[in-house]
Amino acid sequence: MTTLAVARSPRVVLDQAETKSVRCGACSAQFSYAVWRKLTLVERVSAGEVRRAIVPWPDGMCIEIRRCARCNKELARTGRVERTRPP
Ligand SMILES: [Zn+2]
Repeated sequence: MTTLAVARSPRVVLDQAETKSVRCGACSAQFSYAVWRKLTLVERVSAGEVRRAIVPWPDGMCIEIRRCARCNKELARTGRVERTRPP
């Protein structure tokens, strides 16, 4: 997964989490972050869960798996952990 390969700089990865678009590996449909957020959420993997397999991993970042709006396959990208209250 290419998004995980760039997890060296937590600050950069977090900044990119809300700007980079994601492309479906099955049908090549491309989704901006805003559109990605509206796709059906299949699963969200927390930072703690990712850290068990991949280190280092920044706090505040999770992996979200959403369903492609065109072909219905699952696609994953990094995202910020949503807070219930502003920091
Ligand atoms: Zn697709």
